[in-house]
Amino acid sequence: MKDIFFTPGPSELYFTVESHLKRALNEQIPSISHRSTRFEAIYHEAVANLRLLLSVPDSFHVLFTGSATEIWERLIENCVAEQSYHYVNGAFSRRFYEIAQQLHKKPLIQEVAEGTCVAPHSEDIPPSVELIAFTQNETSTGAAQPLADIYAVRQAHPAALIAVDAVSTLPYPDINYTQVDSVFFSVQKGFGLPAGLGVWLVNDRCVEKAQQLEQQGYHIGTYHSLPSLIEKAQKNQTPETPNVLGIYLLAKVTADMLNKGIGQIRKETDYKASLLYHTLDKHLLLSPFVTEQKYRSKTVIVAETSRPSSDIISALKKDHVIVGSGYGNFKQKHIRIANFPTHSKEQVEALSDKLNAIK
Ligand SMILES: *Cc1c(COP(=O)(O)O)cnc(C)c1O
Repeated sequence: MKDIFFTPGPSELYFTVESHLKRALNEQIPSISHRSTRFEAIYHEAVANLRLLLSVPDSFHVLFTGSATEIWERLIENCVAEQSYHYVNGAFSRRFYEIAQQLHKKPLIQEVAEGTCVAPHSEDIPPSVELIAFTQNETSTGAAQPLADIYAVRQAHPAALIAVDAVSTLPYPDINYTQVDSVFFSVQKGFGLPAGLGVWLVNDRCVEKAQQLEQQGYHIGTYHSLPSLIEKAQKNQTPETPNVLGIYLLAKVTADMLNKGIGQIRKETDYKASLLYHTLDKHLLLSPFVTEQKYRSKTVIVAETSRPSSDIISALKKDHVIVGSGYGNFKQKHIRIANFPTHSKEQVEALSDKLNAIK
């Protein structure tokens, strides 16, 4: 019997990936040239489907990188001369901040305890800040920043670029792209694909900033600088030999998601999340780590455990259900459960029953 992965990334593959993968091998997709019209058509299909699925406006470019981690670095190199501002509430948001430090910028940090979100006070942000970084879904703790908070900061600081890490939450959130400048994710979480592909949505404000920095003599990177990525994207290509198979699978899975309907995906995500939180709220050994309802992630559900979490993880593993351990210092104190589009209502109901059976 196969395991089912509720881990927050990599996670269970989208249920159609296996057949697309077989077809890709039959069609020899991994061998085609990335300069061929065949590749350009696949690239175009992936971008067009993503635009439809996520309602990305034409004013945004859709670019491919190796990972979301890469996009953290590219964003700082291409959009920040001196100062970015980071809302930090866990390991992933902190990593973005640290990358800015490692690139010798002077990032500012607004930090809160893990398991909650900063209530942004936009008056704290100095006017010198060029980019404001939000981690919409802090995967290490299951705390999600309400989109309205992000838009409020945008209204107060229209001159700064707003960057949103939506790695462990898209395609679920319905983002208003007029209120942000850059959104990014990698595909091994909510999209249920093999790892090794990052997707970077950027508007022309980001591109203009990169051009300006380059003219001023800043290093904005080489093959994956924004101008270089965009020059190739206009031809449905990438500067380097990309993850062709990953882009192919993304085109196919986004088509499947469009067939299902994003509204349906969102509705099911809400239903499954409320079932899981309900289960945790009543449980004797488990409780939601994020106590404030408004900050509870719908896509990564984190439970505090009153026994070492490895006990619970191994009990579920016997039933071929794989959940994530706690992140970092929380390793033995938490379990993390992904609620992604590939996880069906029935699978989540069965998981809830299995959790209830752990006493
Ligand atoms: C997983 C994750 C990343 C890093 O993604 P990679 O594909 O490993 O680079 C960044 N941010 C968040 C919130 C994540 O969950």
